[in-house]
Amino acid sequence: MHTTTHNEQKLSDRFVAAINISWQVLAKVSESFGTSRFFLHLSGKTRRLFLVHFSQDYVRDQLSARQGECRQCGTCCNLLFTCPALTKDGGCSVYGICRPQACKVFPIDQRDIDEAASCGGQCGYYFKNRAIENSCSQKKA
Ligand code: SF4
Ligand code: SF4
Repeated sequence: MHTTTHNEQKLSDRFVAAINISWQVLAKVSESFGTSRFFLHLSGKTRRLFLVHFSQDYVRDQLSARQGECRQCGTCCNLLFTCPALTKDGGCSVYGICRPQACKVFPIDQRDIDEAASCGGQCGYYFKNRAIENSCSQKKA
């Protein structure tokens, strides 16, 4: 029983690692296309889709480490394309009805925050470990 859980955890960790490597490859491809953010957002959306469905432990852990709050800026509703459910006043027309899981958990990790930043947005969430990283790099500077 214990071994099965351990193996499942290892499998889940490998899956998350594989998704993250794929994301990095696609992000590099995106970079090579200069200012085009198409691949960056395509890979970001694909990554979130896989994570929410197949790596729920990772998503749960990330959400428990996440701090801050949604500023309702709508940046995450405009990645790759403007979501058809986005209303003219910046609301979500499917909120509380059938809002996709990937929307509910955004941002899952720092990559998502960076993706929003690449569009000029500033997500209201942040991750504890990233805050520590930032304060360390500021001290070094
Ligand atoms: S479904 Fe709602 S929360 Fe998700 S991207 Fe569209 S407008 Fe935004
Ligand atoms: S980018 Fe962050 S702050 Fe802006 S709407 Fe999405 S979750 Fe909220």
